[in-house]
Amino acid sequence: MNIHTKAVHAGDRKKQGTHIPVTTPIYTASSFVYDDIETTDKVFSHEVEGYAYARYDNPTNHALEELCTTLESGHGSLAVATGMAALEMALTTALIDRRKKIVAANALYGASINLLMKVMEPFGIETTFVDICDIDKVAAAIEEEKPGAVLMETISNPLLRVGPLDQIAKLTQAAGAALIVDNTFATPMLVRPLELGANLVVHSLTKYLAGHGDVMGGLIVSDEAHYDALRTLSRTYGPTLGPFEAYLAMRGIKTFPLRMERQCRNAITVAAFLRQHANVVKVNFLNDPEHPDRATLQRLLPNGLHGAMISFELKDAGRPEVFAFMNKLKMVVKATSLGDVHTMMLYPAMASHRDLSPKQRERVGIRDSLVRLSVGIEDPADICADLNQALQ
Ligand SMILES: *Cc1c(COP(=O)(O)O)cnc(C)c1O
Repeated sequence: MNIHTKAVHAGDRKKQGTHIPVTTPIYTASSFVYDDIETTDKVFSHEVEGYAYARYDNPTNHALEELCTTLESGHGSLAVATGMAALEMALTTALIDRRKKIVAANALYGASINLLMKVMEPFGIETTFVDICDIDKVAAAIEEEKPGAVLMETISNPLLRVGPLDQIAKLTQAAGAALIVDNTFATPMLVRPLELGANLVVHSLTKYLAGHGDVMGGLIVSDEAHYDALRTLSRTYGPTLGPFEAYLAMRGIKTFPLRMERQCRNAITVAAFLRQHANVVKVNFLNDPEHPDRATLQRLLPNGLHGAMISFELKDAGRPEVFAFMNKLKMVVKATSLGDVHTMMLYPAMASHRDLSPKQRERVGIRDSLVRLSVGIEDPADICADLNQALQ
């Protein structure tokens, strides 16, 4: 089935006694009872399917999880409170019975780097960072560090580099390591990492999947081998998503493929506009014929879909010029986050990469002239017009 079809059918319409609700209701019950205690006992021991306690599972979350499992071609999913909780759960699941060592992409979401450096490392789990787009360096790091897990993002933030996920999956498989992929930027519309050999896929539901800037959530989609461990750990950790949020996320996902298609199309128009503008010097976007990961992109991404994230540099600009430009924007929303229906702009040097020194930022290619744009579903002419008046 096509992703558009899955998005509106998977997970919903489970029979409830006499009737079938067209969409899954919000179940607020914290626990569930059965006619006799023997059945409750069997639900607890998994002999009988059912719900016992909402930290373990709940019908609203279950519907959302079933939907996301289908979208990502997984074995099972777990919905949690935030994308960061999802990442933490994925790392813990991968490392519970493996060597406590991580190899990670050197370009990651800021909070993900903090999780590795400021939480995992003080607990004795060290991370080696590597250029994930250089397969030889990744192979050498896996050989040398013998990690229990490798962590990467499908599309990196904010420079939009794409690592050879399929080749890395072969390396991790051979080394007995788990491959964890944060697929928030790419979404299952562009890449389904489990189909390419990844073991655990992480999402911030907050972004493209929910898509409306009104709910936070995270999701882990697992292969068969890690699913039981994921759920067992979650029962103890308790990062469970609330049922109201699960409902909102599921409502958002029904139009996710439609929104994403439009956002990808808009981004092509906006990138073309930026490339020809005299006050823009560099545009990072996946349809660039000179993109450094062109071969990987052509192998892994569908034709014509290049995502909806763009980053670009303003000509002769430092922080004051970038601030002046951003203050002139009338429609584009100057806020952190991405993937919403409205177009949003963020200044990486101030937000996601704030903790790095200007020198460190320069080294990873994040100049003070760089801004990041998450293209929304508006009319692309209106997006370009707003950027154009602010670029004058
Ligand atoms: C936003 C984001 C996260 C964290 O998600 P939250 O829902 O904010 O916790 C992780 N990875 C990427 C790539 C993100 O964009």
